[in-house]
Amino acid sequence: MKAAVFIGPNRPLEIQERPIPVPEHGEIVIKVAACGLCHTDLHYIDHGVPTFAPPPLILGHEASGTVFAVGDGVADRHVGDRVLVPAVLSCGRCEACRRGRENICANGVMLGNHIDGAYAEFLKVPAKDVLSLPPELPLVEACLIADAVSTPYHAVVNRGEVRPGDRVVVFGCGGVGINVIQIAVAAGAEVWAVDMKPERLEFALQFGAAHVIDASSAPDVARAVRRATDGGADIAFEAIGNPKTVRTAIESVRRGGRIVVVGFCSEPAEIPAGKVMFTELEIRGSLGCRPVDYPRIIELARRGRIRITELVSERVSLQDINRGLDFLRAGIGLRTIVVPSQ
Ligand SMILES: [Zn+2]
Ligand SMILES: [Zn+2]
Repeated sequence: MKAAVFIGPNRPLEIQERPIPVPEHGEIVIKVAACGLCHTDLHYIDHGVPTFAPPPLILGHEASGTVFAVGDGVADRHVGDRVLVPAVLSCGRCEACRRGRENICANGVMLGNHIDGAYAEFLKVPAKDVLSLPPELPLVEACLIADAVSTPYHAVVNRGEVRPGDRVVVFGCGGVGINVIQIAVAAGAEVWAVDMKPERLEFALQFGAAHVIDASSAPDVARAVRRATDGGADIAFEAIGNPKTVRTAIESVRRGGRIVVVGFCSEPAEIPAGKVMFTELEIRGSLGCRPVDYPRIIELARRGRIRITELVSERVSLQDINRGLDFLRAGIGLRTIVVPSQ
């Protein structure tokens, strides 16, 4: 099979010929229909963040496909089944898993980080972790549910606890932010979207934001949010991973407001602890998504309450994957996916 292999930092992914994996006990092999390209991959390729398993490693953690081969001891999956593969596989045994918080599993195994991922024609995973995709959902575009949609779902529903009527501000309208927006809207919130790029603010409106704030021209973004929301948002989402924006998010909420950090900051952010204390602010992190939430997300996508097809702005073949990564680097479009059969 063909696979796009990470061979080391600051080098393009290399297309290599690899043997098709063989499923062992409890495993299945999936013929990959599509895999989303994610900023996490750029952290490995461009920014020197090491992968857990050293290169050479097949990247890609946002996959959908059909079951191609079934190992021993797998009774409930059959060749041809349409499935989604979560980005991270949890152990089910650690304390976090036992508490029902598998997304922060101490032994989580991430595709394209700990083990070979889905920038390939075939992918081997434990059968217990995959989810069925209903026939109404397009198999290719559904790959985005594995991370780009599920991570924002957890952020909005479980960490943000967004309720109907909440005033929500979202900082950053890229792949994560745009889905925070559409899921917060589905949950009944009124959403203010903040970004520096006009085309991203346009996407925000298309995905249900009621208002946009152009951070490139607003002199004081937090003040603009407080004014527009009559004293501050109920909940702010930081979907960029910028210490300055974390601070702006904290300054944007009302007394007793909540800040959800869903972007990854590589540098520490300054927290006004006195303000946190005095106005009872809550600052919460949000990572990935729990297995229990995937069926709900799939159902919302099936019913069109979460739009997935419109998220895909570019499709590339495996051969063209480095061109797809360039779209990501340049911030072109919303989500680029790789379609190995293309
Ligand atoms: Zn990702
Ligand atoms: Zn665990």
